[in-house]
Amino acid sequence: MGIAEDWSDLMFDLSCLSKQVAKRRFKKSIKYGWGGLCAYCRCNRATTVDHIKPKSKGGDSLRSNLLPACIECNHSKGSEPWLVWFKQQLFYNETAQELIEEWISNKRFIEEELDDKSPYHRTTLCTHKSTIRSHSNEQACTGKNGLAAA
Ligand SMILES: [Zn+2]
Repeated sequence: MGIAEDWSDLMFDLSCLSKQVAKRRFKKSIKYGWGGLCAYCRCNRATTVDHIKPKSKGGDSLRSNLLPACIECNHSKGSEPWLVWFKQQLFYNETAQELIEEWISNKRFIEEELDDKSPYHRTTLCTHKSTIRSHSNEQACTGKNGLAAA
């Protein structure tokens, strides 16, 4: 499973997951998505979740607008556009910028999904079923008919 886009995506099992638990799990999944580190400076532990586009400027609370951040980065960034702020920081580097942009555009998440599932789980299950069903049954039939006719 990838990382939920919205905390309510985790409320698939209403009997087990309360709103509170779903929200907590959602925040955890965002922090875990960055190895527990602040996505900006990548040296402090992420103890907060930062709105990339601030709420005050209409930013939503979806995964693609949230980044794990340490308190220092979160406070220092304030409501500035993230990239403007980020480029002024000593810890700025292009790779980090790329990673954040991929996170925002959902790219990293989609690529990981494909890597995980397509070669193993889905396709092997499908081909297994179809070879058992179509090949062995059909061949058994034509085989018998062939013998009977001969
Ligand atoms: Zn930081």
